[in-house]
Amino acid sequence: MHPASKINRIAVPPLLRELASIFNAHGKQVFLVGGAVRDTLRGEKCADWDLAGDALPEDVMRIFPGVIPTGIKHGTVTIRYKKHSIEVTTLRTDGDYSDGRRPDSIHYTSSIEEDLCRRDFSINAVAVTLPDGYVIDPFGGRVDIEKNLIRCVGRAADRLNEDGLRALRAFRFASQLGFDIDGELLSAITERPQMIIPVSMERVKAEFDKIVASKKPSSALLYMERCGILKLVLPELLNCRGVEQKGYHRFDVLTHSLLACDYAARSGYKQTVRLAALFHDVGKPATAKLGDGGVWTFHSHETLSADITRAIMTRLRYPNAGIEETAHLVREHMFNYTNSWSASAVRRFVRRVGEENLTALFDLRRADSFGMLGTEPPPELSLDFRNRIDSVLAAGRVLSRKDLAVSGRDLMEAGIPGGEKMGRILNSLLEAVLEDPEMNSKEKLLEMANRLFCRCHFPLSTLPLPAALRQNTEER
Ligand code: ATP
Ligand code: MG
Repeated sequence: MHPASKINRIAVPPLLRELASIFNAHGKQVFLVGGAVRDTLRGEKCADWDLAGDALPEDVMRIFPGVIPTGIKHGTVTIRYKKHSIEVTTLRTDGDYSDGRRPDSIHYTSSIEEDLCRRDFSINAVAVTLPDGYVIDPFGGRVDIEKNLIRCVGRAADRLNEDGLRALRAFRFASQLGFDIDGELLSAITERPQMIIPVSMERVKAEFDKIVASKKPSSALLYMERCGILKLVLPELLNCRGVEQKGYHRFDVLTHSLLACDYAARSGYKQTVRLAALFHDVGKPATAKLGDGGVWTFHSHETLSADITRAIMTRLRYPNAGIEETAHLVREHMFNYTNSWSASAVRRFVRRVGEENLTALFDLRRADSFGMLGTEPPPELSLDFRNRIDSVLAAGRVLSRKDLAVSGRDLMEAGIPGGEKMGRILNSLLEAVLEDPEMNSKEKLLEMANRLFCRCHFPLSTLPLPAALRQNTEER
């Protein structure tokens, strides 16, 4: 690959050439900008195109059919063209920023250089003329791409004061691209981390989510720790710093969690597993106790970790389904299988975890295991358990009430009224079948249901206890 700093012209995809000629036919100029230029100069493929030009939003709406006004206040509309969605923003300069996030006003301009001035980092402030593909690079973006460096356009402190989100964007690009952050930018963030406070949770979440989805989330998270942003955004994670767990582990809880999350990212595990890997031990600081022999224990930390995970993800406005799935994985991450587990113990485990979550939980276990010593877990990790689960399920897969040989309707026909009591009876039937799959016949279950129903009518507490039992209870 040609060094980025030497590239003066790039090959423009035919679709963009077509679009540009439509703009030109209407007397308008258009440029390729943003991430597409950056990624092309890095030799990466890119299909997410941002355009900037001198056409006003209303001009774009006149020229193209079905334009969507996606950010009209800032001059941005989205064109649908040959199944592609392409953002087009009118060239602009930004007025003052009084809220630390958005410009109070914008002014349209016809100068691409003026437009590039308002952009965050030099690597994002390179434009390409369309249709011919000449590179316009007034801030040395190509050299920074070559140096793998994230550097602000202009004075870092000023650019961060305008918009605190840029600090998180810098960290996100560090994780996504494997770039370093320029010293001046790092110092400016460290001097005033509270710049992040006016940024809406939705924007913080969008960047955090991209960090976790990146190739190496720890790059961003370590920068965040170093600059004081982690303390403001994810204090629960920062609490894990310095929490020692010598014994099985080599690292403190934060380093362990970062290693686990990186492993999940590197292995291409899904987002909920990466999040669970990052948060699975956040309950450890509050449950740490120094046990016999100077070994730290963290009893029930998985329950607290799940609660804290739920609180963090709720604060970051994650959708409920993602929160619940992640918290569930965190709560279940401490399973400790041995081949002495009975078949019913395996069935109960599968029922509790959910068959659909098994792969994710085993992925989390691999990531957790990597984080303990920083070494690749053996390929056969959890293999025995997986095989055992497969064979237990092959022998009969009663895992939920709908798998039972009787339904609520059958119970009603047998004279048991619907409602809460019937629900409890069905749960007891399921427990019995999990214990012994032979129980799953209509006859046996109806008989058991009838017995339970009679007992419901005469709850144990209202019956006189046999003398022997009474004595036991009193002794206890
Ligand atoms: P990607 O789309 O791959 O996440 P991108 O660089 O295209 O990365 P976008 O958020 O799509 O990022 O923004 C497009 C461009 O708009 C950026 O490259 C940058 O030039 C500019 N930009 C976006 N957000 C900001 C901001 N907060 N401050 C200044 N410029 C910004
Ligand atoms: Mg983009």
